[in-house]
Amino acid sequence: MATAREKATVHSQAARARMMGVKSTLTVADWLDIKARHQGKCAYCGQETELSPDHIHPITRGGENTPENINPACRPCNGSKQDKTLDEWQNGRPAPRLYGRALLNARLKNSAKNTLQ
Ligand SMILES: [Zn+2]
Repeated sequence: MATAREKATVHSQAARARMMGVKSTLTVADWLDIKARHQGKCAYCGQETELSPDHIHPITRGGENTPENINPACRPCNGSKQDKTLDEWQNGRPAPRLYGRALLNARLKNSAKNTLQ
């Protein structure tokens, strides 16, 4: 079940994406599915806490509001990453920091076809 806050977040991000003129298909059901695939943990630090959708490639940088571009992130990680790309955010951080799907996404982010679906 999505919380009221999660629904509001998904809807406001969709509105923001449309305003920015980028593709937006993410639904509340997609978000719950993404969270479940990550076992309810932050994709970046592994914390099991309240999560919000992070755009792996930021909307402000042309990233799409689609399930392939979403990772679940805890508040500190999402707040720290903001509108940075993974490379920019990782810069200067001790490696390895990413794991699982986040790492794969980082490796595949430049490939035209994301085969992880
Ligand atoms: Zn985190």
